[in-house]
Amino acid sequence: MFKGTNASSGFGIGKAVIVEEAELVIRQQSVADAAAEVERFKGALAQTMDDTEKMAADLATRVGEKEAEIMQGHLMLLMDPMLTGEIENTINSQKVCSEFAIETVCNTYADMFAAMDNEMMQQRATDMRDIKTRMQKVLLGIASVDIASLPAGSILVAKDLTPSMTAGINPANVAGIVTELGGKTSHSAILARALEIPAVVAVGDFISHVENGDTVVLDGSEGVVYVNPEKDILQDYVDRRDKFLKAKKDLEQYIGKETITKDGVSIELVANIGKPEDVEKVLQYDGEGVGLFRTEFLFMDRTAMPTEDEQFEAYKKVAEALAGKPVIIRTLDIGGDKEIPYMGLEKDENPFLGYRAIRLCLDRKEDIYKPQLRALLRASAYGNIKIMIPMVTCLEEYREARNLIEELKAELDRKGIAYNKEIKVGIMVETAAASLMADAFAREVDFFSIGTNDLTQYTMSVDRGNDKISYLYSTFNPAVLRSIRHIITCAREAGIMVGMCGEAASDPMMIPLLLAFGLNEFSMSASAILYSRKLITNYSTSELQAVANEAMSFTTAKEVEDYMKAFVAKQA
Ligand code: PEP
Ligand code: MG
Repeated sequence: MFKGTNASSGFGIGKAVIVEEAELVIRQQSVADAAAEVERFKGALAQTMDDTEKMAADLATRVGEKEAEIMQGHLMLLMDPMLTGEIENTINSQKVCSEFAIETVCNTYADMFAAMDNEMMQQRATDMRDIKTRMQKVLLGIASVDIASLPAGSILVAKDLTPSMTAGINPANVAGIVTELGGKTSHSAILARALEIPAVVAVGDFISHVENGDTVVLDGSEGVVYVNPEKDILQDYVDRRDKFLKAKKDLEQYIGKETITKDGVSIELVANIGKPEDVEKVLQYDGEGVGLFRTEFLFMDRTAMPTEDEQFEAYKKVAEALAGKPVIIRTLDIGGDKEIPYMGLEKDENPFLGYRAIRLCLDRKEDIYKPQLRALLRASAYGNIKIMIPMVTCLEEYREARNLIEELKAELDRKGIAYNKEIKVGIMVETAAASLMADAFAREVDFFSIGTNDLTQYTMSVDRGNDKISYLYSTFNPAVLRSIRHIITCAREAGIMVGMCGEAASDPMMIPLLLAFGLNEFSMSASAILYSRKLITNYSTSELQAVANEAMSFTTAKEVEDYMKAFVAKQA
């Protein structure tokens, strides 16, 4: 058995197809005519751009706009005059062949990105190596592996899947994906999830243990892989796969159903999105609205800030698509692990404790915050938009943002521009300070949404992205649970809506506790909605009180986790 990272859930059973990109041997060859060599490079660049555009268009129609953006990101890299200029300079000044110039320049950038302690930048390193190889292959006349025409029932095995390789995958033929490298948030993992293909990544040394045609079994939820397993193991996984697929199909019966507990408590079951295109999945999985629109994604993978009008169009599109259902749009949350190169932000010593989210927005009202708030107000005329402010630590921040919104409303009034005069303004409760002051906040704000991803980080003083200390990062730690319960109690006492948009909102072990605490709204990735509806409709909040009391009596995360695990297992 091999162990890796669970990247896309489900069970894949099929025959191994090892996709090994031929190792390109790039030699430093001198050229006599540098100008002609630059032309040769430009030809390969044009061809690669052409291919990339085709892949983007193909992905957009087969999978979705969001997935096509990965290829559009490649196109941006290929169009970057700094990169291409540097390659041309290298050819001219060193009189070397295009292949070698591409190799040195792209590697320098890729190494630089890879050294950054930031997953997004690490991904950019993979992107850079991907476009490097593709340009070199065009120059060398080497055809790429044709993943699009694999036989049905293939388990794709690779060292790492480059985004351009993943783009060609046809889910009708690929039953699973196993890679030696990669991570949960790498583009290939994201694509695998979008295509609903089971995947295990970061398995380590694997290719040397498997041959083409071997039977491979993988469990994308647990992150395990078997090569030519014993008959009984194989049969066990065939059964599990069938059960999984049946359960998935069964969940469709929850489409169109109300989310209401057995004792009649109505719950709002809404979705987290990052781009207007994500609304498609929200509607497909019957989301009752949007509980978190992470607007920073509109600002990423671009070379300049989206204008007020561009933002207005994006917010309006979501509001209209949800046709009156609530759409909570969070104002820009950058800084921390989310960098936006063109904003020219200085590197913080402690980014998660630094110049981030509302702190940055209030400091840059004119160029960043006002255009965004104005776009949100204007879009509020087209649906049920609510504004949410992230990373608030003190009341002054909320008041300043609220005053700014009032100021902008008056400006729109003067200009006769329509907006929703009753628009609700709430906060994310995700810092320890906001949680401790939740009673005071609840008297002033319109709603809360608990951001457990950060609340856990800030309560436990544990960087949410640091693997070495991830053992401390548990939302089941009694400190975090007490904080969550306190926030919900304060909101309910003040009579305001309280939701949750952190990952914990869709955790089957957490849902019973949140129901018992009195959470009104659960916001999660669209694909988790139907399963959560099934769970919620099977619980009674009054019966869960005893479970919550018992869970809250423990003093360590492990005890709570063990208890909730046993409780959930009993329900199944
Ligand atoms: C959170 O912190 O729980 C949250 C939902 O926000 P993000 O993950 O974008 O920081
Ligand atoms: Mg957060």
